[in-house]
Amino acid sequence: MPQTKKNTLTEEKKEIAQTKSKQSKKSAVPELPQSVMVEKAKPVLNLLRGFKDILPVEQKYWQYIEDRAKGLALSYRFEKIDTPILEETKLFYTAVGKQTDIVEKEMFSFANQGGENVSLRPEGTASIARAYINHGMFNLPQPVKLWYWGPMFRHERPQSGRLRQFHQCGFEILGEIKPVVDAELIIAAHALIHSLGLETVIQVNSIGQMSCCREKYKEELVNFYRARRSALCDTCKERLNKNPMRLLDCKEPQCAALRGESPQIVDYLCDACKDHFMKVLEYLDEINIPYTLNPRLVRGLDYYTRTVFEIYLKGTEENSLAQSALGGGGRYDLLVETLGGRPTPAAGFALGLERIIAKVKEANISVEDNSKVSIFLACLGEYAKRKSLGLFEDLRREGFRAATNFSKETLKSQLEIANKMKVKITLILGQKEVLDETIIIRDMDTGVQEVVDYKKTVSELRKKLGMIE
Ligand code: AMP
Repeated sequence: MPQTKKNTLTEEKKEIAQTKSKQSKKSAVPELPQSVMVEKAKPVLNLLRGFKDILPVEQKYWQYIEDRAKGLALSYRFEKIDTPILEETKLFYTAVGKQTDIVEKEMFSFANQGGENVSLRPEGTASIARAYINHGMFNLPQPVKLWYWGPMFRHERPQSGRLRQFHQCGFEILGEIKPVVDAELIIAAHALIHSLGLETVIQVNSIGQMSCCREKYKEELVNFYRARRSALCDTCKERLNKNPMRLLDCKEPQCAALRGESPQIVDYLCDACKDHFMKVLEYLDEINIPYTLNPRLVRGLDYYTRTVFEIYLKGTEENSLAQSALGGGGRYDLLVETLGGRPTPAAGFALGLERIIAKVKEANISVEDNSKVSIFLACLGEYAKRKSLGLFEDLRREGFRAATNFSKETLKSQLEIANKMKVKITLILGQKEVLDETIIIRDMDTGVQEVVDYKKTVSELRKKLGMIE
C-alpha cells in the first residue's frame, strides 16, 4: 500500500474517533453501564412461583437422605419403583377423592394434544396402586413392598414449607391386612428420620372404615358442626354437606378452634377396627416408638382407612397447623379395588424431602459431602497436561476421588484451587517430571513434597491416604 494512502486512512480513523468522543461528551443522556443496557434489552426469565432449583451446594443434603432411604429399603426389603410424573386426571379423582383440597384446588391439570385430561401427580400412592394393578403384581408373593422417590406437584399458596413442586420419598406395602404392617411402616418412617439425626414423634389415629364405623361418626360430626355453622369458614360450610371428615383438617383458625370439642372417631370404631388399632399400638409400645394419639387426625386424602399417622419433629407436634409435618401415611385397604383391581389391603407413608432437609440444616447436622475429593492433580506445561489426562483417568479407575483443572496454567493458581478443595494430596507433574518419569507428591497439610517414580504413583497414594478410596 502506498505510504500516502496509509497516512490518509490513519488520519481518517483518528478523525472518526475524535468526532465520536466529542458527540458522546456533548450528549445530555449519560451512557448507561453495560449491565443495565443488557437488562433492558433482555429481561431475565425467572422461576415459576413455588418452584425451586436444587443447586450443586444443596446436593449433599439430597444425597444424604437418599443414601439412608436406600439403606432402609434394603434392610426392610422394599423394591424401588418409578412411576410417571404425568397421569390421567381420573386416577387422582378416583383415588385421592374429588372433594379433597388436593384434587379440587391444587392439581396442575390440562388437556394434552390428544384431548386427554392429564395431571402432574400431586402424590405417589395413587400411581403405585395403579401400577400394582396394571402389572398384575397380585400374582407375586404378597405382600409387595415398594418404595419411590421423586417430585410431586400441588398448586398451593407458596409459603414456608409449601412449594408447588416438592419431593417425596414413599414406602408402600400392598397385599397384607395384618396390623403388624401398619406398625412396620411407622417404625420404618421413624427409623429413617432418626438415621438422619432427627428426633420425631408420630401422631397416630384410626379413622375406621366407611361400611362399619364411619357412617355413624359422620352423622355425629355433621350434627356437631351444624350447631356451630356460623363460626365455620366458607369452605367448611360446603364441606359440611359434601365431605364432613375434611372439616377436621381445615387450616383456618376459626375452624381449628372448634376441632378440640368435636366428636372423636375412636369412640365410633367397630370391634374389628378397634382391635386392629389396639394391635398397632401394642406393637409400637413393644419397641418404644415415641407416638401420641391424635383422635382428630384424618389426613387430607380420601383413600385412607383405619390407621393414619403423621410424623413430626419432636417439639413441633403440637403445632400441626404450621405445615410442620415431615410426612404422613396410613392404611388404604379399598384403594386398589376402587381403581378396578382385586380387593387388596395396603398401607404406606410418604416423607416430604424439602421439609426434612430444612430440619437437617436447622439442626446443624453435619452431612458428609460425597463429592469431596482427596487428590488434586496439578500440571505445568503442554507436555505434562497431555500426560495428566491419562493419569487422571487412571486415578479415577483405581477408585480415587481426584480433581484437576486443566484450564489453569500456573502452579500457584492450581495450588489455590487444591487448597480451597481441602484435598489431602496434590500431585504435581511438570516438564521436568515428565522427562524424568517422576511425579511430585505434596502433602497439603505439611507442605512437604516428595519426588517419586511415576510408575509408583498409585501405590504411593494408597500408602499415603492409608486406604483404598
Ligand atoms: P401429605 O401426604 O399431603 O401429608 O404429604 C406428605 C408430606 O409431604 C408432608 O408431610 C410434607 O412434608 C410434604 N408436603 C406436602 N405438600 C407439600 C408442599 N406443598 N410443599 C412441600 N412439602 C409438602
